[in-house]
Amino acid sequence: SSGAPSQMFQFKLVLLGEAAVGKSSLVLRFVKGHYYEHQESTIGAAFLTQSVTVDNAIVKFEIWDTAGQERYHSLAPMYYRGAQASIIVYDITNPESFERAKTWVRELQRQASPNIVIALAGNKADLENQRKVEYEEGAKYADENGLIFLETSAKSSQNVTDVFSEVARKLPKSH
Ligand code: GDP
Repeated sequence: SSGAPSQMFQFKLVLLGEAAVGKSSLVLRFVKGHYYEHQESTIGAAFLTQSVTVDNAIVKFEIWDTAGQERYHSLAPMYYRGAQASIIVYDITNPESFERAKTWVRELQRQASPNIVIALAGNKADLENQRKVEYEEGAKYADENGLIFLETSAKSSQNVTDVFSEVARKLPKSH
C-alpha cells in the first residue's frame, strides 16, 4: 500500500434477467458470502450495498435486485434509470433465459444511460452436465456488444466477486 487513503466512488448497479436465473443468489453470495439452496425470489434483497477495491479505489455498489417483479410484467424503466452499471444474468441450462438476456441488453442500450457498463453473466456454471448454452455463444455475443462476460455460479461462488470487480474496473473514477 502506498499509504494514501483510497478514494471511494458509489454507483447504482441493477440486476436484470429472467426469473429464477439466480439474480438474488448472486447478490447474496457477493454481499453476504452465503448460498441458499431454496432461495425464494421474493426474499431477494431489493437493495443492498457492497464494496470492492480496484486500482486503489473503493467502489461501492448500490445493488438493485428486481425482487421477482420480472415474473409479472416488464420492469419499469424507472428501475434502471440512473444506473451506471448492470449485470444481466442468464442460466447456462436455459436457452430461453439467454434470449431474454439479449432483449435486456438491447433495452438498456436503447433506454439506459449511454455510458452504462454492462456485464453478461452466464450463471449456474456448476451445472455443466445440464449445459445448453455454450460458453462461446455467450462470449461471442458479449464481444459483439461490448459487454463484460463471465460464467458464474452463485452455488460454488465461481467468478461472483470477479464479475462485480470487472464492472468496477470499467466504471469512470474521476468525480
Ligand atoms: P432470481 O429469480 O433470478 O433472483 O433467482 P434466484 O436467486 O431466486 O434462484 C433461483 C433458483 O436457482 C434457486 O433455487 C437457487 O437456489 C438456484 N440457483 C441460483 N444460482 C445458482 C447456481 O449458481 N447454481 C445452481 N445450481 N443453482 C442456482
